[in-house]
Amino acid sequence: MYGIEFGFCHMAFLNDLSYHLSKKETDPVQIMEKTLGTIREKNPDYYAFIHVDEDLMIQKALESRKRREAGKALSEWDGIPIGIKDNILRKGEVAECASRILAGFRSPYNATVIEKLEQSGMIPVGRTNMDEFAMGSSTENSALGITRNGVDKEYAPGGSSGGSAVAVATGMLPVALGSDTGGSIRQPASFNGVVGLKPTYGSVSRYGLVAFASSLDQIGPFAKTVEDVQIIYNIISGYDPRDTTSVQPELKVKMESGLRKFPPENMKIAIPENLLENVSPEVKKSFFQVVDFLEEEILENKIDRIRMNASELSTPVYYITATSEASANLARFDGIRYGKRENGDSLVSLYENSRTKGFGKEVKRRILLGTYALSSGYYDAYYGKAQKVRAMIHREYMEIFRKYDAVLMPVAPDVPFKLGEKIHDPVSMYLADVLTTGASLAGIPALSVPGPAERLPIGVQIQGTFFAEDSLFALGKIIEKKFSAG
Ligand code: GLN
Repeated sequence: MYGIEFGFCHMAFLNDLSYHLSKKETDPVQIMEKTLGTIREKNPDYYAFIHVDEDLMIQKALESRKRREAGKALSEWDGIPIGIKDNILRKGEVAECASRILAGFRSPYNATVIEKLEQSGMIPVGRTNMDEFAMGSSTENSALGITRNGVDKEYAPGGSSGGSAVAVATGMLPVALGSDTGGSIRQPASFNGVVGLKPTYGSVSRYGLVAFASSLDQIGPFAKTVEDVQIIYNIISGYDPRDTTSVQPELKVKMESGLRKFPPENMKIAIPENLLENVSPEVKKSFFQVVDFLEEEILENKIDRIRMNASELSTPVYYITATSEASANLARFDGIRYGKRENGDSLVSLYENSRTKGFGKEVKRRILLGTYALSSGYYDAYYGKAQKVRAMIHREYMEIFRKYDAVLMPVAPDVPFKLGEKIHDPVSMYLADVLTTGASLAGIPALSVPGPAERLPIGVQIQGTFFAEDSLFALGKIIEKKFSAG
């Protein structure tokens, strides 16, 4: 919709909207009406949105129009809508994390990212569907209904941020926010043929993001182009004293001063060959088409095949770490402090009833796994050991980044699977996270960009060291220019 109406060209989507707004060829209310119209038309088929407060959206668009008319636009993006995942709090709006336990919960405050978007005049729209509490890779764990892949409705959209990815892929919105704990932005971006960024841990505030696994969670953007992901990243990132894991400005400056700065043509790239062993032929073909292009036309003699031994263990380490943290984080949903209360004849049965009725199967499985891994007799064997291997994975990446500027690999070992195909086999779903969990455990940024695809979308993943987002964007734009249709 945006493309046709507003002269969309594939390198400058938000820029186009902003240009037409500044020329008064459109205005925020017109954009919002079209956005809501497209959502009304397409959402019944895809179920990307759980909820949209249309009146509020129109009111926000009217306010933006007023600012623009008075020459007081808050930024060039004033009036542009952006989709929001259901685990990012927005004051007064429902925030259910696609869970029954939070049914009807309204947030008393704004997440920092929402504040930042609003300070730039952007309009957060709706609540996008997700796996319950962001646990999953297909959005089928939502308590509210399944989302369908934006390219082929028979297929899973990926997850857990499937709603945000599909909203962008189907043109309901130009951009959306998701969260990524072990791949939940990159994998749905890959499955829907859009761009997604998991930023450096600590670069985007987690204040107001409902915690799944606090040492891994990061909020990040989805868009149709790298340029638009970059624009949103620049708006939402920055130090926030309300998030204790937010990277302090002095530390950020120090980390950035160590970054090599040169054109992307001079980058040195590593490809971890051993991690690609179980990648499907279809994904391999697409990935190596990208590698061959880079090697032949851009980065001659600058791409090496390497081994990443510690990273082979990233999936088990991730699943022990993430479930352990989740079991602690989700303890607050007990029907007293948070969560829908189901009464019982004692305090314990009240807890039991609330949690039994409130949580879905996957969330319960993870709470059990995490509680087990943290229990006193098993702590050293599971959680303790996982943390040691996590440190090894981190060191392995740091060692690589001494010599290389980026690590390149596919996002997922296979193309999207059919809806229902994996939902009864959680372990096979977990194993498919093999290529995304490493960057999460190391805390480094990773960008998913569409690669060439014959049938279903395939994403190429570019990982870099802390705060190397700009290099990832630069390389991502080269890949996008060559392989994106449009
Ligand atoms: N698929 C992974 C999981 O199920 C990642 C989820 C996420 O990043 N939120 O835990």
